[in-house]
Amino acid sequence: MNKVKSRVHRLPTKNQTHILVNTYINPEKHTQSPVLDFDSAQRLHRENTDEQLEDRGFEHQYLYATTDEEIKKGYWFLDIAENVVKQCPNDKYSELIKGDCTRLKITASNDPNLNIECSGCASEEITRSYQCKCKEFPQFPLSFIKDYCDKGGIDEVYLAEEWFDESDVIYALTSSNEVIIHPIEEKTYNREEVIAFGKKCAEYGYENELDNEGQLTDEFIDRNL
Ligand SMILES: [Zn+2]
Repeated sequence: MNKVKSRVHRLPTKNQTHILVNTYINPEKHTQSPVLDFDSAQRLHRENTDEQLEDRGFEHQYLYATTDEEIKKGYWFLDIAENVVKQCPNDKYSELIKGDCTRLKITASNDPNLNIECSGCASEEITRSYQCKCKEFPQFPLSFIKDYCDKGGIDEVYLAEEWFDESDVIYALTSSNEVIIHPIEEKTYNREEVIAFGKKCAEYGYENELDNEGQLTDEFIDRNL
């Protein structure tokens, strides 16, 4: 199965979600993630009203997985310049924003405001007997949301792809309308790789006259690694 790399964004909402963010933590200044781990978030929800949580600086947020695929009519996208979610109204607009890297197609979310309109609802000629076939937007599995909270945020994932052609990608969905997520593995380094990297840094320092030794001694390595 092919996989497509997706970025994960979050935006605040007044609705209750599983993702609680502590707005007192500034990611620029603090090393701690503002995203609360899943169990703590659940506990805070049990023990506080939404108002109390807001008073304490907590904010509910939605998650959005995005790619830079073409945004067609009816597709939802994230405008990262304005930090808002919008729906592409027509083909003309789609053409206008083509290739604009500040507008990213949304491929999965836990935001219930996103839906996929059926042709009947889109036509505005709804009769009383009309049966709406609007579809729910592809969702994040709860296991991913838990993982997201416990890791203090995940910036990128792979989404499993069902099918694609030059113009579109169809993502694989489970029977409960959830996307299939594969983690992007972080590379782990062994001792030899770290030593080689350290030596390169030392050489760089020497060549650029930042350091007059220009080498990592075995003694230094044994003591520190
Ligand atoms: Zn409908």
